[in-house]
Amino acid sequence: MTDFSLNLNEDQLQIQKWVHDFAEGVIRPVAEEWDEREEFPWPVVEEAAQIGLYGVDFLLNAMGDPTGLTLPVAIEELFWGDAGIGMAIMGTALAAAGISGNGTPEQIMEWVPQCYGTADKVQLGAFCVSEPDAGSDVSSLRTRAVYDEAKDEWTINGTKAWITNGGIADVHVVVASVDPDLKSKGQASFIVPPGTEGLSQGQKYKKHGIRASHTAEVVLDDVKVPGSCLLGGKEKLDAKLARARENVSSGKQPAMATFEATRPAVGAQALGVARAAYEYALDYAKERHAFGRPIIMNQAIAFKLANMVTEIDASRLLIWRAAWLAKNGQFKNGEGSMSKWKASETAVRVTEEAIQILGGYGYTREYPVERWHRDAKIHTIFEGTSEIQQLVISRAISGMRIE
Ligand SMILES: Cc1cc2nc3c(=O)[nH]c(=O)nc-3n(C[C@H](O)[C@H](O)[C@H](O)COP(=O)(O)OP(=O)(O)OC[C@H]3O[C@@H](n4cnc5c(N)ncnc54)[C@H](O)[C@@H]3O)c2cc1C
Repeated sequence: MTDFSLNLNEDQLQIQKWVHDFAEGVIRPVAEEWDEREEFPWPVVEEAAQIGLYGVDFLLNAMGDPTGLTLPVAIEELFWGDAGIGMAIMGTALAAAGISGNGTPEQIMEWVPQCYGTADKVQLGAFCVSEPDAGSDVSSLRTRAVYDEAKDEWTINGTKAWITNGGIADVHVVVASVDPDLKSKGQASFIVPPGTEGLSQGQKYKKHGIRASHTAEVVLDDVKVPGSCLLGGKEKLDAKLARARENVSSGKQPAMATFEATRPAVGAQALGVARAAYEYALDYAKERHAFGRPIIMNQAIAFKLANMVTEIDASRLLIWRAAWLAKNGQFKNGEGSMSKWKASETAVRVTEEAIQILGGYGYTREYPVERWHRDAKIHTIFEGTSEIQQLVISRAISGMRIE
């Protein structure tokens, strides 16, 4: 077990600076352009791949850190640069986490690198759980996977909604029901390899924020994948289904296991957005004059900034604790959810206050704070809404099935 420390080590400090420099020098100058274009920022992701920031090695290195802090530290800097471009760079990690959380070592070795491709041929991954009628309620998935034993082949049918990189990804990880009677205990995760017939992109959503990130429906129409694409393998699935039929706990659900592990990272995304807005508003408040003095000389403005920085620091402490616990113990009171909930709500409040501090300028697209406010909001919705985080925490502290 590694001790929890607020002192970042040499490696972490170097990575923090490296990501910050990329965010400042490469991402920030083009953030507004890609937000307006509402397109996937291929050139930026390709540049990130060239320096090794987008790629399987970076992810493995960050995830291999025994303190757990490297990933949230890097993500905070990336999203400080821009959340839409940040998601374009980090979206693949969700697919990689889905594979790592549920796959065999052989499947992980085969498919995680294919999610990323190489520096010269960038590829993307997508993690497809949500459906038009099943977002928070993951147990209601309608996408169905049926096994043909003679061919050792699965056929998948269904529609997935709001999928990051959906339809433009090379590797889609799809969570489907294999036994609808068992609800969430009858689900499994599948790899849908590049170029598989029957998988197509449905509508591409026009969004409020993180507009450089691609979000679309994924339609699965008689998609056929070999038995080897079932993550974890058939034997493990059969054993899990048998336990579920006997009403014995079958352990974690595939989708929930992935989300649980990634929550501090999502908190770190929100934290980066909040910090960007706070820093901008602080500088502005010192320079903007009204009634013959800088507006920060008014307690009403200074106290807002005091509140913003305190909430940001509190969020970071919760995120680091959760990231450390994920590696060095386990969550007891829903600490992963606490960190994501606190940071995402903080990001919404801080970015709104930043607009208030910038006044009329803050409300215009000439200044970045309105974009940051739009970007912040997604964090209270995806990978578990704020209400669902509170549900997880309530159940953890009470040991009861709070509804
Ligand atoms: C930009 C974007 C990217 C996304 N990327 C992905 C992705 O890559 N992969 C993926 O699988 N999904 C993705 N999603 C989907 C996202 O995870 C879901 O939208 C989210 O889980 C909420 O589900 P829902 O939209 O169906 O809302 P609902 O579940 O319908 O919730 C609606 C409201 O009801 C509340 N609510 C629901 N149940 C309860 C309850 N039991 N108690 C209290 N309140 C409740 C919710 O908190 C919310 O306020 C993405 C979504 C967006 C917008």
